[in-house]
Amino acid sequence: MSFKEFEFISQLPKASHPFLSTGIGDDAAVFQGSFPWAISSDALAEGSHFLSEDDPYEIGQKTASVNLSDMAAMGCEPCFFILNLHVGSTWTETQKIERFMAGLLDRLKSFNVALIGGDTVRSKERGLQVSGTILGKPYGQGPILRSTAQVGDLICVTGALGGSFPKRHLVFEPKVNMAKEICQRITPHSMMDISDGLAQDLSHICRLSCVGARLELEHIPIHVDALEHHRGDCSRALQAALSDGEDFELLFTIAPEDVAKIPSELNVSVVGHICAENKLEARSNSEAPWLPLEPKGFSHDA
Ligand code: ADP
Ligand code: MG
Repeated sequence: MSFKEFEFISQLPKASHPFLSTGIGDDAAVFQGSFPWAISSDALAEGSHFLSEDDPYEIGQKTASVNLSDMAAMGCEPCFFILNLHVGSTWTETQKIERFMAGLLDRLKSFNVALIGGDTVRSKERGLQVSGTILGKPYGQGPILRSTAQVGDLICVTGALGGSFPKRHLVFEPKVNMAKEICQRITPHSMMDISDGLAQDLSHICRLSCVGARLELEHIPIHVDALEHHRGDCSRALQAALSDGEDFELLFTIAPEDVAKIPSELNVSVVGHICAENKLEARSNSEAPWLPLEPKGFSHDA
C-alpha cells in the first residue's frame, strides 16, 4: 500500500505528558514548565547516517536515540519530541514507514518522551530524510554545558569505547538513565556525549572551557567490538576507542572529591584530568612521558 500523508498523521499516537496541554492535531503543541528548557535537533540522512538496506525499525530507533543522547549529554530529562519526515520515492511503501515509526515510538516510550508534533512531506528525491527535535528539563543543577570544565577536574566516561560500526550504531542505548543517576548524585562541571571519538570530543570541552586535558591511556575502557574488529591488536583497538565515531557514551568532568559518590555499578571510568595549559596530552602509563594527543587519536611521535 502506498504512503498517504493524512492517513499517516491520523494514526500517530495521542501524546500524553504532565507538562503538555495540547499535542498532535492542532497547528502547534502547547506545554508549560518554568525551568530552563534544553532543546536540540539532530537530522539523519540516508546514505550518511543509515543505509537504504538498514532495517527501518532500527533507523527509527536511531532517530530517537541520537536526540535522546543529546538530552542525556545536557543532564536533562527528555520530555518532548518533534519529528520532520521527508518521505522519498523509495519509502512510499506504508509498511516501511510504519516500521520506522514503531522503532522511533518504542524508543521514545521507553524514556517517557511524548511525540508532540512535526511535519510530513513527500519528496521526489530517493531515500528518507529525517530530523528530530527534542526538549528536556534539567535533572539537578543542570543543564550541564561543555564550556564549564575546571582545572583539576577528573575526566570520566561511561561504558566502553570504539567499534560502534557496524553492529551498534543504529541500536545503541542512549545514556539517559545514566545521566540521571549521575546528576542526581553530583553536578558534573561539564558534559557531552561522545559522537566523534573521545579525543575529538574532549578537545571541544577543552576549547570551549579554555583548559587542557591529560589522558591516562591505560584507563580508557576499550569496547570488545573494537578489540574484535582489530583482531585483538590492543594498540589499534585503543586508537579506535579514542577516535571511532558514534559511541554515544557520556564524557564528563567532575570535582575530584565527587568521584567517591559515583557507585561502581554505573561502570564509570576516570580516564584523565583537566589542566590549565591549553593542550591535549596522553601517556601510556604513569612512568611514560606525556605526548601530544591528536584529535584524531593518539600519536606515538612526540
Ligand atoms: P500543518 O498544515 O499545520 O502543517 P499538518 O497537517 O502537517 O499541519 O499536521 C497536523 C498535525 O500533525 C500537527 O499537529 C503536526 O504537528 C502533526 N504532524 C504532522 N507530521 C508529523 C510527524 N511526522 N510527526 C509528528 N507529528 C506530525
Ligand atoms: Mg505540515
